[in-house]
Amino acid sequence: MSLLVVGSVALDSVETPFGKVDDALGGSAVYISTAASFFTAPIRLVGVVGGDFSKEHIEFLEERDVDLEGLQVVEEGKTFRWGGRYHYDLNARDTLFTHLNAFEQFKPIIPVSYKKTAYVCLGNIDPVLQRQVLEQIQKPRFVIGDTMNYWIQTKPNELRDTMKVMDAIVVNESEARLLTNEPNLIKAAKKIIALGPKVVIVKKGEHGAVLVTEDTIFSAPAYPLENIYDPTGAGDAFAGGFAGWLSKTDDLSNENLKRAVIYGSSLASFCVEKFSVDGLRDLTKLKIQDRYRSFMELSRFDEGR
Ligand code: AMP
Repeated sequence: MSLLVVGSVALDSVETPFGKVDDALGGSAVYISTAASFFTAPIRLVGVVGGDFSKEHIEFLEERDVDLEGLQVVEEGKTFRWGGRYHYDLNARDTLFTHLNAFEQFKPIIPVSYKKTAYVCLGNIDPVLQRQVLEQIQKPRFVIGDTMNYWIQTKPNELRDTMKVMDAIVVNESEARLLTNEPNLIKAAKKIIALGPKVVIVKKGEHGAVLVTEDTIFSAPAYPLENIYDPTGAGDAFAGGFAGWLSKTDDLSNENLKRAVIYGSSLASFCVEKFSVDGLRDLTKLKIQDRYRSFMELSRFDEGR
């Protein structure tokens, strides 16, 4: 099935205790599309970049078969830039800067060829823009949304309006708590369900993820990696793996949602092994399948006596 992805296309400057990159390819739409491209086609990207966005980055997406008809290029503008710093506790990061640049004036225009798209993944951008994208698509089958603290704090009402039209939402622990004022994550997920999305996934960094629906709670571990170089994009790679699997299988049963969570976790685990999108660059379907199986082994146990 087709998958439409909207989100930031960015140049990221990231520092971790293990290294540093400047103006590296990033952004929610880039990580989501790349991760999803291992599962499904076509992937239709909606976003904006400035004249400073290199041809090499465009080629990277084209090689992954991402349709870029919906990527606007503002020749006289600059690409969205984000800077972040991680400490030894890689679960916490400081945002050093967010320069919206071309995103400030961005009006999403959905190409005619994108209008009938079955699955939609609303990557982390202004919730007003997420909504404008959805309004231009003819009845999508399933809408997955992401957001971040920045939007929860600066556009709470707009975000709540957009959440009403999401079928699933992917948030991290702090976002779940901030959205609901509820410290307990399961209660928070249930409060989020009351706001619209029927499926809530709370990501807990190196502690895995929890899937909550009206009648299911599923807890997935994180892959126990020994070397994590750059957590940037892990959440988006998760969303891309999750959305990609659902779009490939077109099965929205609880059991398949659980599989999608494990595929999401697999993609996130590859993403953090290198800086920027490099962890996804040389990835293969076979490596993903191996990691999926390792996840099955990780928490398999018997009843005992
Ligand atoms: P994640 O680590 O999955 O939360 O995603 C990190 C990516 O989100 C980076 O590549 C950033 O370029 C992008 N990003 C950071 N802040 C924002 C924002 N306010 N709006 C859109 N994208 C953002």
